[in-house]
Amino acid sequence: MSHEPRIQELFDDLKKIGLKPFPLPIGVKNGVREDRPLVLDRFDGYPDPTETKADSHVIGIKKALEFPNVTLKTNTMATKLVTTSEGRRVERVEVISDNKKAHFEAQTIILACGAVCSSVLLLRSKNGQHPDGLANSSGMVGRNYMCHNNSLMIAVSKKPNNTKFGKTFAINDFYFTGDEHFPYPLGHIQMLAKSDAAMFKSEVPRIVPEFALEKVASHALDFWLTSEDLPNPENRVRVLSDGRIQLNYTPNNLVGHDLLKEKLKQALNRIASNVSILPKHIYLAKKIPLAGTAHQCGTLRFGKDPKTSVLDVNCKTHDVDNLYVVDSSFFPSSSAVNPALTIMANALRIGDHLKEIFQTNEFKREIV
Ligand SMILES: Cc1cc2nc3c(=O)[nH]c(=O)nc-3n(C[C@H](O)[C@H](O)[C@H](O)COP(=O)(O)OP(=O)(O)OC[C@H]3O[C@@H](n4cnc5c(N)ncnc54)[C@H](O)[C@@H]3O)c2cc1C
Repeated sequence: MSHEPRIQELFDDLKKIGLKPFPLPIGVKNGVREDRPLVLDRFDGYPDPTETKADSHVIGIKKALEFPNVTLKTNTMATKLVTTSEGRRVERVEVISDNKKAHFEAQTIILACGAVCSSVLLLRSKNGQHPDGLANSSGMVGRNYMCHNNSLMIAVSKKPNNTKFGKTFAINDFYFTGDEHFPYPLGHIQMLAKSDAAMFKSEVPRIVPEFALEKVASHALDFWLTSEDLPNPENRVRVLSDGRIQLNYTPNNLVGHDLLKEKLKQALNRIASNVSILPKHIYLAKKIPLAGTAHQCGTLRFGKDPKTSVLDVNCKTHDVDNLYVVDSSFFPSSSAVNPALTIMANALRIGDHLKEIFQTNEFKREIV
């Protein structure tokens, strides 16, 4: 996607001081539409009724539904995977569908509930053969949860920024190394869609007037910083005895993340002194808290050793012969970039693998 004028100016300024900003891969259908103007705004967290965003509904599900043997069950939550008596195969998926209990049977079961909920489903599916949770002989189900060290940083520039959609470039100059004092990876910086006064409101005392927030927002340049968080078995998803889900997480690798913020500030300060766009050097930064599970991954890590991993290299559970997982829970480490492309690439890889193994895989459905 091309940059809007203020973002292009920032891109050029960063290049002038020796950084290597590059266009960010953005999943937008066709880039530009002919039948109506392309209106991109802060769409990240919302369903996109214009179907411009290349999300799974537009790119995957709609196309899959064109096949007569594909059914999409909405309002349906998987509650338990039931195995055969010896525990080697899942024979039934129990669900609540439109408030009614039902179950499905299939030769192969593919789990993709996201890193938290896939673990939860396995933990809730414990039985005599799998007393600590399904496919959990390693004790690793739910462990090694990662979600990145993510921060928002807003630089308040003297020049107004009337950009509609600013998320069009990224900087990886500090991805692999910091500096002579900290020669380790720091992470990734990218632009964000544009902030506004409403977003700031919940972050400041109530006495701060709306017009002040609007002024700040209209001059804000918005950045998203991501550093790798490392797998730690104690960072984990659990199901409590009363059925509630608990997420335990102690952040790690914060020195590199703080240095990444510092590197960005230094770069912006250099631009400020060169071309005087940021004379007041105002930066607002906020680290995304535990509730920010957007980049959740890990929890069912893949690997060759059944003692230390839940899935094999083809994302089949080591313990159950017909159960695969293709969401972000297979990640053994989190890297420092947004996860979706890796999740999709791996799902396509496993799809090819399964296609080789099976000619048909018929689902039978029976309401109980
Ligand atoms: C606001 C926001 C912005 C983001 N922006 C980006 C970005 O710009 N780039 C990027 O790469 N990534 C981005 N991400 C992250 C990306 O969306 C996730 O990494 C990705 O969607 C995870 O894919 P997944 O298949 O693991 O899980 P999900 O996409 O979460 O899919 C899991 C699905 O399983 C369903 N489910 C859960 N439990 C059950 C159950 N028991 N029964 C039935 N269904 C169930 C859920 O409803 C959901 O539909 C963003 C995330 C958020 C929240």
